[in-house]
This record gives sequence, structure tokens and C-alpha cells, in this order.
Amino acid sequence: MTKYVYDFTEGNRGMADLLGGKGANLAEMTGMGLPVPPGFTITTEACRAYLTAGTIPADLSYEVDTHLHAMEIAAGRKLGQVDAPLLVSVRSGARFSMPGMMDTVLNIGLTDDSVVGLAAWSGSPRLAWDSYRRLLQMFGETVLGIDAQHFAGALHAAKEAKGVTGDLDLDGDDLRQLTARYKEIIRAESGRDFPQDPREQLDLAIESVFASWNTDRARTYRRAEHIPDDLGTAVNVCAMVFGNLGDDSGTGVAFTRDPATGAAGVYGDYLANAQGEDVVAGIRNTLPLDRLADLHPGPYAQLLDIMRTLEKHYRDLCDIEFTIERGTLWMLQTRVGKRTAAAAFRIAEALHAEGVIDADEALRRVTGAQLAQLMFPRFDGNAAARRIATGVAASPGAAVGEVVFDSDTAVARAAAGAAVILVRRETNPDDLDGLIHARGVLTSRGGKTSHAAVVARGLGRTCVCGAESLDIDPDVRRFTTADGIVVTEGDVISVDGTAGVVYLGRVPVVPSPVAEYFEGRDVGDDELVRAVDHIVRHADARSRLGVRANADTPADAGRARRLGATGVGLCRTEHMFLGERRALVERLILAADDAEREAAIAALLPLQRADFVDILSEMDGLPVTIRLLDPPLHEFLPDRTELTAQAAVAKALGRPATSERLLRAVNRLHEENPMLGMRGVRLGLVIPGLYDMQVRAIAEASAARLRAGGHPHAEIMIPLIGDARELEIVAARASGILAEVAAESGVDLPLEIGTMIELPRAALTADRIAETAEFFSFGTNDLTQTTWGFSRDDVEAAFFPTYLAERVFTVSPFETIDRDGVGRLIGLAVAMGRAARPGIALGVCGEHGGDPESIRFFHEVGLDYVSCSPFRVPIARLEAGRAAVGDDDGSVDSR
Ligand code: ADP
Ligand code: MG
Ligand code: MG
Repeated sequence: MTKYVYDFTEGNRGMADLLGGKGANLAEMTGMGLPVPPGFTITTEACRAYLTAGTIPADLSYEVDTHLHAMEIAAGRKLGQVDAPLLVSVRSGARFSMPGMMDTVLNIGLTDDSVVGLAAWSGSPRLAWDSYRRLLQMFGETVLGIDAQHFAGALHAAKEAKGVTGDLDLDGDDLRQLTARYKEIIRAESGRDFPQDPREQLDLAIESVFASWNTDRARTYRRAEHIPDDLGTAVNVCAMVFGNLGDDSGTGVAFTRDPATGAAGVYGDYLANAQGEDVVAGIRNTLPLDRLADLHPGPYAQLLDIMRTLEKHYRDLCDIEFTIERGTLWMLQTRVGKRTAAAAFRIAEALHAEGVIDADEALRRVTGAQLAQLMFPRFDGNAAARRIATGVAASPGAAVGEVVFDSDTAVARAAAGAAVILVRRETNPDDLDGLIHARGVLTSRGGKTSHAAVVARGLGRTCVCGAESLDIDPDVRRFTTADGIVVTEGDVISVDGTAGVVYLGRVPVVPSPVAEYFEGRDVGDDELVRAVDHIVRHADARSRLGVRANADTPADAGRARRLGATGVGLCRTEHMFLGERRALVERLILAADDAEREAAIAALLPLQRADFVDILSEMDGLPVTIRLLDPPLHEFLPDRTELTAQAAVAKALGRPATSERLLRAVNRLHEENPMLGMRGVRLGLVIPGLYDMQVRAIAEASAARLRAGGHPHAEIMIPLIGDARELEIVAARASGILAEVAAESGVDLPLEIGTMIELPRAALTADRIAETAEFFSFGTNDLTQTTWGFSRDDVEAAFFPTYLAERVFTVSPFETIDRDGVGRLIGLAVAMGRAARPGIALGVCGEHGGDPESIRFFHEVGLDYVSCSPFRVPIARLEAGRAAVGDDDGSVDSR
């Protein structure tokens, strides 16, 4: 026979799956000898059996009888008996704390008869009738599903009839009359009488806790939090103790440390002469916990002692609910407390310093997501600001600036020293310069994975996207809000990318001391910064994965280095072809013959060389992986539709079309599927001289750095390889050029040549590719696109919402690596690559390199490094360390 019920004396905190969090911790406290009222827990297994069968399991009732009986003996009173009745609370408690499920029902066992007995036992008729009306209301609402309005209306009417405003102004008699009214409501609304059999009350309450597992609100919450649907909830039945027995009674909540800042010292609130939720409901003003020292010195000292005991025992911040009944302290709940990101770091550090946990455990207690939160500047929470739109919180941070509607204006205003916010319906690769120069970006279309969002996250810019209520008109340079507010170019707005909110005007920004510290600025003696520093350093000591950065400019590279990057894992060269150099690229594309093309390429060479010299000196002594040109060439040309329209207009007006040659080239380069078209190594093979020039620029830059006494460490990376032969051709030519430059300049240039692995075919033939490639870098963005066969730019808005709702995946595969598919390809390529070339360097570049869950995978699969945007380097360092120390020790989940 399955055991469905555990007495508080039988369980412990390791049994949270079976007893729920609340039940497991009540049992733990009972086992520790703390003053917990007697009680028992009905298991999640019983709930699952109920949900499957639709009825309470047959054996359960018998077991409840047995445990109830034991409890009655312990309490010396019987459930609902007329003389000094035992009352109980019925409390839900799942594995994870879960709003949306049935709340607690207090005072179960009160009936028309036992309410009189309670009045006599307690000496307080008011207490008895107040408890009874609370029971009728809670039972009516949560068990019988009656609209709360009815009870609230009756309570209001009672106060009005008496001419008073506060609940406490109603005396025992008033409350007695109110209970009569409540019983009428129950009869009218549910078609049945309030059960006068205490045991029937208990059974109905238990059943409705079980059933509440499947309410819409509970389901929605579980979906959002990735909590499985099949866990079920436990039910705790606990003898009532009364905090509302007069001034020597009360109820409160407490934390063993400040959950907001992590500061040492106890925190909490206390309310005299109160029951249950009164403390948090804000009905009366609560007292700060330390005032209890004067009110009840004995129980207060005992409470402090218990808090110390609990914290030692749980080795973490504990969150406590307690009640004092006529001077006697009772513990009603504890759990490992939720905390802010700042508190998480400070508490972990403090517990380590106190010797309660070791350094590895401190590292497990904090997350990359929490560190990310601490690194963003924030808006001053106190400032009054006008909210004009909300959208998707796509890239966190707080940005204030003047509105601009196009990339060129963004660049120009930024050059003039202005802080700008780029506002577009949506962005495309042409907006890159604008994004780089803007503090933040705001769009009216697209989600977390739109171009704007992805680029903004990569650059560490603040982004709110998909603010659909905004009507953005770039032609007239203004946008209009849902309320009709018109914002024109140059007006100042404030964008909160952490919350997804846009404000009119300038909201004061508070910089993050943690980010300031990582950037190498003096922040004085700050406890939070010290905690972050210690924990991240320990992560570095433990991690096996290196952390490099994706950096295309010397400025980004320098920042990455300050933030602790051990190299550049991806230096994209396409950004070096934008801006004023675009004209040269056009010349190259439009070249009518070899001579023209060679001239254009030759003109690009010194510019590229200078780019590389700068980055290599910024990263002196550290590896810099330079990727040869990757994107389709049309990205460097004007928009096809625009050019076609211009040509048509010119023709209609009988004017010569100035850009006809350009239009022909654009048409020639047009592709239906550019991401699967002429890009990556294909460009290198088809356009003679292009990759040669880039390799020569890298080689000459390295030679120049060597001659200047530097320690350049460039690596040449070829994108979009699908077959070993492609790489062989390019690598052979590159080696030739390296040898040439080495001879010309009289230095050794042993640069490594490797490849991206970003096509399934490359992963599947990694052994062949590794014969040539000296390193692999997994390009997980493209690898995800090509493995799934969907183009990121098109699918995210189109069907990801449906896919997420239908649970085809629970998180976008562009955010967190798809272990089952893409991950398997990576695993395969790692094994084959290492077999063919032992010691081959393996890394990953692409957004996944900065994602905590993905980093864990990359650690497990045995990569050597991840590469992510500079801003995320500290986060990746932390997560790499966390991956290395492994999972936690089974301490209670605080979710
Ligand atoms: P929640 O999960 O919402 O915190 P609880 O089951 O902890 O719900 O109940 C809420 C409050 O009800 C408790 O903090 C406590 O004040 C009160 N309560 C619950 N059980 C009892 C009891 N047996 N005696 C007195 N008060 C109780
Ligand atoms: Mg509680
Ligand atoms: Mg790619």
C-alpha cells in the first residue's frame, strides 16, 4: 500500500518532491526540535493519484484518520469538538512555490457549535466569531468557488450599518450576525449549506487543494517558469495556533538577513493581535521585527536563536513565518529565501567568509543572470516619469538620449557629442553604424530575437523592441504614442531595456558600481563589488573553459580585455568594409575587368592592415581569431527596390539613370535565399584576390607588430566551410601568402588557419576538415539555422510564439543551444576533430557563447573556450566556473 500521509515527525527537507517545499521544511523544523504545531502532510503522489482518477484515493481517508488522531492526542483536543475545539489549517505546498493555486484555509473545524466552545476556551467571543467568519469566507471562496465580492459586500454593509470603517470596530456580536449573513451567501451561491461536520470541511478543503493544481492561472504560471505539469501539490494540515488572542499574541514574517541587500542582521515585520495574512495584507501598520525585543523579550530572544540555528542548518538565508500565542512562539514556515541579485552575491560571500559554505558553494549560489542584472545601469526608481510605451525587454539597461530616426543621423549626432536613441520600425544590417553609435534602440516591430534585439545585445546597447502602440514615421521624423503624444527628432526619451518601458524626457540613471569596477574604474570600498570580485576570481580559478570576446574594433577589444577576456574569439571583418570604405567595396563589386578589381582590392589593403595592427596591439600577447569576409556582397550595396524605383523615375522623366550600372550589379547579386547563397568561403573562392588581400593584411599587420616588439597572435578563420576541399584551397593560398610576407619582412609568421563549423555538413565531415583546420570555432547561430532549416530573421516573429506555446521547444534555440539536435552535431564534430587532430583548439562564437545554459553544455562537450560579446565576458567567466564546480548539494530550491 502506498503511504500517502507523513506526520511532520516523519519527513525531512530532502523529501520536497514528495512533501512539497512547505511540508518538507515543516518536517525538517520539527525534526530539529523547533516549536512547530503538530501536523501532517499529504503527499504529491496522493495528488497525482487524485488527478489521474478524478477521485480521492480510497486509502487516503483512512490514513488521514490515523494521523488526525495522533495530532489530536498531541494537542490534547479533538477536531471541532464543542468544548475547546482543535482547529486546523489546510495549506497547499508544491515542490516549487506557485502562485495561482489554492491558498490556505484557516480555522477548519469551526461550526455553529464549536464556535461557542472556542469563545469559552479563549475567553474572547470576538476571536471566536472573527475566526468563524474568516473560515466561512475562505472556505466559500476557495473551496466552493464563490466570488469574493459577495463576502466583501456583506462585510462592508455590516460596517456601514454600524457607522464604522475598520474591521476591528466590529465586536463579537456584529461578527456573529455577519457569519449568519455569510452562511446565507454560501447557500445562495453554492446551493448547499456550509458543512457543519468538521471532517467534511477538512476533506473538501483537501480535495480543492488537489484540484487547484490545474487551474488556468497555475498552468500559465508553470508554463512561464518551466515547471512540469505532472508534479502535483502536497497538502499540509497543521494545528491552528492563534496570533489573534489579544495583545500578548501576534504574527510575523522574518528573514535571517536582508533579502534586498544581503546585509547582515535580522529583518521582518510583526503585527500584534492578528492572524494569517494580516501581516502582508497591509490592514494595519506592522512593527519592525526588532520592536519585538521590547514587547516580548522572551519569545524575541528565542526567535533570534532559532534564526541562527536555521541559517546554520540550511547554510543559507532563511525566510520565516511565525506566530506568538499568548507569549508562546510557534514556527509556521521556513524556506531558503528569495533574494535580489545583489543580495545573492553578498550573502554567498558572507557565508563563505563565516565558514558556513566553501568557495565552490558560494559560486553555486550565484548565477550569470544575476551578475548581468548587476552590471546594467538602472533608472532611479524614485523619479516620477511619464511612461509612453511598453514593449519587449530585449536588451537590458537604461538609456537616455535624443531621438533619431536613421543611422546616419545617429552617427552624426553622436559625433557631435549627443547621446542618441535610434528609433526605427525595425532595423536591418544597414543600421549597424547607427546601433553602434546609439545608447539605445527602440522599435515598434519584432521580438527578443529581431535584428535590433540581437545586435543590441551583442553590442551591450539597451533595446526595447516591438513597442506596437507606437506609430513611427521616419519620413517626417516623428513617432506618435497611443495617447497621441508626438515625439519628434531631437526630443529626449528614456528607454528601460530591463523592464521594456519607454519614458518621455530624461529619467536619472544610476550607474552600476559592478560594471564600473570591471571596467577598471575606482569605485571605492563597496561590499557588493568585493563579493562579485571574489566570486568571479574563484570562478576563473575553477573553470576549464576559456572566455574570449567577439570584438571587431580596437575599442571593443580593449574593453573585452579589461573585462577579463583571454583573447578575441571572433573578429568580424565585414564591419571594416562599411562607412566611407563602402565606396571601395562598390568599386570592387562593379569592376568591369581584372585591373579595376585589383585596383579596388589594392586600395583596401592598407586600410585592413591598419585595422589589424590596432586590434593586435590592443590584444598584445593574446589570440585574435580573424574571420575572413562572410556576408553576401549585396549587403554592401544600396537597396534593390529603392534603386529600381529611382531608375523608373529617372526613365519617366527622361533623365539618364545615374545608377544603372549599380542596379545591374544589384540585380546580378540578388538572391532569393541570401543566407544560403553567395557568402562565406564561397566569396573567397569566386572573387579572386579578396581573401588573398585579407590574409596579406593580417600577415603584414603581424609582421609590423613583431618588428615593433609586440607579441601578435592572429589566427585566420574561414567561414561557412561545407567541405574539406574548400578549406584546402583557401588554406593553401593563405599559407603561400604567409610565407611570402614572412620572407619579405624577415620574420616568422606561424599563424594558425582554422575554420568555422556552422553547417551540418561541416560537422558531419569534421574529421576530414580537421586534416587542414588547426582549430574549429562553432558558429552556433548559423549552425542552428541550417540544422533546423529556418532563417532566423523570418521565423522568430512568424511562428516561434506558436512553437513555444506548443512546446516544440521551451526556449528559442537561438537563445539557448538545442542540445538534442545542434548539440549533438557539435558533440560529433568535437569527437571527430580531436580524433583526426589531437590537440585541435575548439571554441564557439555566436550568441550562445554568452548564454549560461549553453555555456554549461559547451563545458560538458569539452570545448576549450567560448567567445561572447565583451559585456558578457564576466558573466561567461562566472558561468564557466559554475559549470566546472557542477551542480549544488541538494539544498532546498528557493524558486
Ligand atoms: P502561503 O504559502 O501563502 O505562505 P501558508 O500556508 O504559509 O500560505 O499560510 C499563510 C499564513 O497563514 C501563515 O503565514 C500563517 O500566518 C497562517 N497560518 C497557516 N497555518 C496556520 C496555523 N496552523 N496556525 C496559525 N496560523 C497559520
Ligand atoms: Mg506561508
Ligand atoms: Mg556564420
